[in-house]
Amino acid sequence: MVNAMNTFRPHWSQTSARLMNACPRAWALTYGQPSHHSIRGRRAGGRPPKNLDEVMLRAMRSAWAKKTSDLYERKVWTKAYTTKVLTRLANDALAEHDIGVPMLLRRQNIERAVQQLRLLDGVRALRPLIEGEPRRWAFFERREPTQVGGMELYAAPDLAVFHQNRWTLVRLQFRTPARNPLGQQLEHLLAVHWAMNQPGFPDDINAFRLNVVAWRGTRWREHHLEVSSQSLKQALALARHDVQEMTWLSRWANADPTLMSLPLASHSSHCDGCQHRRGCPAETGLATAKREQENAQAKPSHREPTKSANTA
Ligand code: SF4
Repeated sequence: MVNAMNTFRPHWSQTSARLMNACPRAWALTYGQPSHHSIRGRRAGGRPPKNLDEVMLRAMRSAWAKKTSDLYERKVWTKAYTTKVLTRLANDALAEHDIGVPMLLRRQNIERAVQQLRLLDGVRALRPLIEGEPRRWAFFERREPTQVGGMELYAAPDLAVFHQNRWTLVRLQFRTPARNPLGQQLEHLLAVHWAMNQPGFPDDINAFRLNVVAWRGTRWREHHLEVSSQSLKQALALARHDVQEMTWLSRWANADPTLMSLPLASHSSHCDGCQHRRGCPAETGLATAKREQENAQAKPSHREPTKSANTA
């Protein structure tokens, strides 16, 4: 029997929401383990990276956090130092997670990551900080939550820069999914809710600009998102809807601790490298597993929970 969740603490994070949409079963297993009750505790260990690309992505984020922290103390990284840090982070992660990668491929990926990180210095939103222009600014980690409307919201911006009486919140995307650009915009807008609920920031939407810096293949692209009461309302509605779905899913998982009735992945690509694949009905094929699940569910069962308007 699968160890299902006991309770669900309402929270929204991009990772959690995307996993739920990709595979409800994987979400229930990832966020429902009793030892993972605290998202903070879970994130300290974190989900292991699935492949070299995920290792490099995490290495870049981690190097970026260190680099920003040094920049705050006016220490500027050279290319050689950036290479050294990224090489160490990537090699450590590959060894820790036992991911074998040919040396040449490893070197090529590290070189690309060094280039990507260094090109960040040239983006308009960050240049004043790199060039040491006088600015009030702060940097954050995505894992810092804030309470918004009864849920923990993990949507911190990467940077906040004060200029001309307004805060520009900067969100970095080291990888930009091709799918659902509108949904991504709403996710970015949650950073404004996050800031407005943080001590030290004004509780006023007119005090914020939002700038997204996204990696597109070979270069960083910057764009502003309109911050309005309407767009913020839509963003919060998206998060609330996701949390409502998560609450429902957690109840479903409690009602069926085998998790056999929970929906499986929306696409087989989500199963590639999934840490819950062993023992999953989709272990040997998603399409067959879904067919078998449909057949099983066609027979009425007294264990099925009833979804109603009162379940959220
Ligand atoms: S193997 Fe596929 S269906 Fe099973 S939990 Fe993982 S993502 Fe979901």
